[in-house]
Amino acid sequence: MIRRKKFIIQILIISLPYSIPLPATAQRSVSIPLARLSVTSPFGPRVHPVTGRPNNHNGVDLAARSDPVFSVLDGIVIETGNHPNLGKYVRTLHGDVEIIYGHLSRLLVSTGATVTVGQPIGITGATGRVTGEHLHFSVKFNGRYLDPLKFLRRLKEQSNKPLNIE
Ligand SMILES: [Zn+2]
Repeated sequence: MIRRKKFIIQILIISLPYSIPLPATAQRSVSIPLARLSVTSPFGPRVHPVTGRPNNHNGVDLAARSDPVFSVLDGIVIETGNHPNLGKYVRTLHGDVEIIYGHLSRLLVSTGATVTVGQPIGITGATGRVTGEHLHFSVKFNGRYLDPLKFLRRLKEQSNKPLNIE
């Protein structure tokens, strides 16, 4: 009986990232944030590339070179700015899901703007605290960061459009 309970709890924890109620638009169309996804630093615990200290990476870093950044979903821009660590960034909201794009060289949208899936919202760069150019890409749901690649895969599964990620 005790063993069974433990098993159920484990299943719940494992399935958590996949029980996200996605915005209705996600089921129609979804984009990847860059034309090509090449991970240079994954989501989760890591040694910070600048400080050399252990920390938790709340997003994924993707290789980029002055590349256009595409809005993953239909939504609105809730904030843009220039942060000491994150550099020039865009925060977009899609129902309960928030997406953050960082270290941009240029912002192509402003706060309050509506964005459509696949719309260029910025150009990648090396602003903020970085060792080189890349796109920092975070996905937040109910105040918790999710693994962005798992999130994209989940969107892909629910989308009827092909998505160029493995
Ligand atoms: Zn990062």
